[in-house]
Amino acid sequence: MVNIILLGPPGAGKGTQAKRLEEARGMVQLSTGDMLKEAIAKGTELGKRVEGIMARGELVTDDIVIGLIEAKMKDRARGGFIFDGFPRTLKQADALGDLLARTGETLDAVIEMQVDDAALVARITGRFTCGNCGAVYHDLTRPTKVPGVCDVCGSTNLKRRADDTEETLKTRLMEYYKKTSPLIGYYHAKGQLSAVDGLADAGVVASAIAKVLDKA
Ligand code: AMP
Repeated sequence: MVNIILLGPPGAGKGTQAKRLEEARGMVQLSTGDMLKEAIAKGTELGKRVEGIMARGELVTDDIVIGLIEAKMKDRARGGFIFDGFPRTLKQADALGDLLARTGETLDAVIEMQVDDAALVARITGRFTCGNCGAVYHDLTRPTKVPGVCDVCGSTNLKRRADDTEETLKTRLMEYYKKTSPLIGYYHAKGQLSAVDGLADAGVVASAIAKVLDKA
């Protein structure tokens, strides 16, 4: 069993790679962003509390996301967990270390997906997903074959994230540099960090990640 973190700014491709790892290795993606979005969609108390914060592109409190991850980690994952979008602060990183230690598990790799800001803006502002099967598309680099129809499942329920605008992206990037990028040093110091070029083709990135995992 291999537990890994995918680390990188919004738009680095963490979600895309997490989905590939789930299929290829039977790992389980734990995305705090997806959990929070689900809470908003369901209109839960938690969803109401975080909606405004997320729409602005700011981080929600550490206690909220640590609680979400703790609950999900109770179901053991056969192939291990892929932490996607978590941890995002040093406090969250410490909490994850404690949670893994409590169940006698290890963190086997932290993969930093490196990308530059200009590329992120282009990537993020053009992306959309299928609300039915989760397939990921982009206006310029990966449009659907038939406009408005998902290539994979034929659904017309294609969605854009409310926080994928240029304005919100600025806040999200600033949050990343201020609060999340210190984790690069933190995991480097622990000898757990590996970097991959997040701007390469998704298949090339997947191979680079596979190489890291096979060594872990
Ligand atoms: P994501 O889908 O990972 O880009 O997350 C979307 C939004 O959810 C972020 O912009 C934050 O507002 C919130 N969020 C997701 N994960 C975390 C986290 N680990 N810590 C704090 N806020 C988070």
